[in-house]
Amino acid sequence: MPSSRMTDAPSPSLWIGLCFWMMCGPADGMGSLAAQDGLWAGAFAIDISPIEFPVIVNGGMYERTASKIVEPLHARIVVLKSGKKKIAICIVDSCMIPRSILDRAKKIASQQTGILAKDILISSTHTHSAPSSFGCLGSSADQRYIRFLIPQLAKGISIANQRLVPAKVGWGKVQNANHVFNRRWLMKPGTAQTNRFSGKVDDRAQMNPGVGNENKIRQLGPVDKDVFVMSLQKRNGKPLAVLANYSTHYAGAPSISADYFGLFANILSSEYAADSGDFVAAMSNGTSGDANCIDFTDAKRKFDRFTVARDLADSVLGVLKTIEHRSNVTIDMQQAELEVSIRQADASELKAAKEVMMELGEAKPKTLQQVYAREAILLSELPSKRKIVLQTLRIGELAIATFPNEVFAETGLKIKAKSPYSATFNIELANGAEGYIPPPDQHTLGGYTTWRARSSCLEEDAEPKIVAKLLDLLKLMKDRDDTVDLN
Ligand SMILES: [Zn+2]
Repeated sequence: MPSSRMTDAPSPSLWIGLCFWMMCGPADGMGSLAAQDGLWAGAFAIDISPIEFPVIVNGGMYERTASKIVEPLHARIVVLKSGKKKIAICIVDSCMIPRSILDRAKKIASQQTGILAKDILISSTHTHSAPSSFGCLGSSADQRYIRFLIPQLAKGISIANQRLVPAKVGWGKVQNANHVFNRRWLMKPGTAQTNRFSGKVDDRAQMNPGVGNENKIRQLGPVDKDVFVMSLQKRNGKPLAVLANYSTHYAGAPSISADYFGLFANILSSEYAADSGDFVAAMSNGTSGDANCIDFTDAKRKFDRFTVARDLADSVLGVLKTIEHRSNVTIDMQQAELEVSIRQADASELKAAKEVMMELGEAKPKTLQQVYAREAILLSELPSKRKIVLQTLRIGELAIATFPNEVFAETGLKIKAKSPYSATFNIELANGAEGYIPPPDQHTLGGYTTWRARSSCLEEDAEPKIVAKLLDLLKLMKDRDDTVDLN
């Protein structure tokens, strides 16, 4: 009988479809029961700008405070569902957030949404102009802001989950070398900066040596020039979300600001999705532990957060024109804990560090020596081992590997080269703030990123162990992909 005869009683399967439609509302592009299959996606950006001032700002060697919002901060969230599997990706305008805080936010989000905590990824963009959620170097954590942040992250994930609609996904990439330069340089012997509580001697590496510094010899590693783009659309082709990924440290901004990450999102919203009010764009940080926007060979180069955001948005807008979207994709996510040792000061270093701190009393550290003496003491009070969270996820044939660290480009490039997936990118500072993980041969060269502190404290062999575990997880997903029906 013709299905267009509206007087006919609906078949049982059509009834189910109608009831579903009435429960969920008429989602864009969803006209049939078939739309329930395949990928669903929901997105939301929740404002996480501080509401009480002043706030402590971290990311520098010494503590700062800020009392005004220059550009607002957001947590930008995408929830994806295919079959029974549901995952959340949350990109936060923060310098870094430790595991203990993220675990609390994930627990609340999980209770509100049913998404398993291990299927939630929360990473920091690494803006250096945001309230401090992690005490390190000269800065303390801002406990008042943390109390605000935790439920706000959970609320954002919950709202994104409520916005799930039938969706399509596609991805692509382009290279942009304009804003990514290796900031670690090999120096002439005896000229690299050091300090007596760094845990290092005879440093040969120096971060940010200066354009005119004639003691610098060469850069100590590659950079990752990829601009990766994952695009989500509603089934009718309307933009729903864009998750981009680039591997530079940050551009720089007065506090409080989301830096270029937030400005990039604004450009995408106004120029790519002007008529999609619920569109969300996010720029995640790839592997930028040894990379930033400064070209130390070019005194004339000028950049700021606006020019970086504009140029990377242009790269992403170009990729978006080439992406083909499809809805029949499955998704998967794997999480593992890896136990690693912590580098700690020996008895004589600790004794000397305590003498420095006795002189300082209750004051905040104001010299490099004081900062690292304090770090030596604080690290000695922590357990000598810890478990860190590693995750991999895939959306169709696009894979993402996450590190809770600030990661050197060469490490991320290893993952990309050895991944069993045709497209892979990395997100750093995800699910924790476990510090820099220089590869072992970079540790031997010393320099700021190797100096022992809460922001660089994992054992010197942590990097190869983390890479091996992430590649295991990617392979595990690939094997499941081939053998298990995830739906
Ligand atoms: Zn940084």
